[in-house]
Amino acid sequence: MAGHSFTRVHIPAKKLVVITAPSGAGKSSIVKKLLQHNPDLSFSVSCTTRAKRDGEVDGKHYYFISVEMFKQKIAAGEFVEYEEVYPGQFYGTLKKEVERIWNNRKVVLFDIDVKGALNLKKQFGNDCLTIFIAPPTKQSLENRLKNRNTEDTQSLKTRLNRSEEELAMGPQFDKQVVNHDFDTAYMRVKNHITNFLQPAEVHVH
Ligand code: 5GP
Repeated sequence: MAGHSFTRVHIPAKKLVVITAPSGAGKSSIVKKLLQHNPDLSFSVSCTTRAKRDGEVDGKHYYFISVEMFKQKIAAGEFVEYEEVYPGQFYGTLKKEVERIWNNRKVVLFDIDVKGALNLKKQFGNDCLTIFIAPPTKQSLENRLKNRNTEDTQSLKTRLNRSEEELAMGPQFDKQVVNHDFDTAYMRVKNHITNFLQPAEVHVH
């Protein structure tokens, strides 16, 4: 589709692009499409202690590990950031995952929660672009989570409570994109990334 792909640019070293949102705002579909259309982006596969959903592949969507293993990795300082996103469910980014992607001369693309996103921003500053995907309304979040059918009632409640808090955090990110419709939201995100990766102009006098 014309316009959906990226014009390739020289990739500046060691950049990070973080897509974040309240659960159910539709960030994963945007991340998926970005990866399909931009070979310079490489997905940061997180560790998680939650159960694998149908269709998820270990090592592709997540590294599925036990809570014990996760805690060992925390103690060993292996995470660049991690959060207990839901009670008893840990999610984290391994330092070696980021290094692996940078060694391949790619830009690291993250799909992580709002706290993890702010944490990365604090560590990497201008080398890190944080984009917050906001749902058009609170109701749309609830509908999306319900329709996705991946959560039981308790998990749905936990996710909705958390989403409300997260919605209020939008202004803390570099860019905010409201997901009224998928194509427009995708194009906005894509343009923000293109601008971020554009090499700074060199003025020759
Ligand atoms: P899910 O269980 O729906 O795959 O993910 C739940 C939440 O955890 C999502 O907001 C997702 O972006 C976030 N998440 C996934 N990986 C990480 C990670 O490595 N670190 C942090 N902080 N959040 C993550």
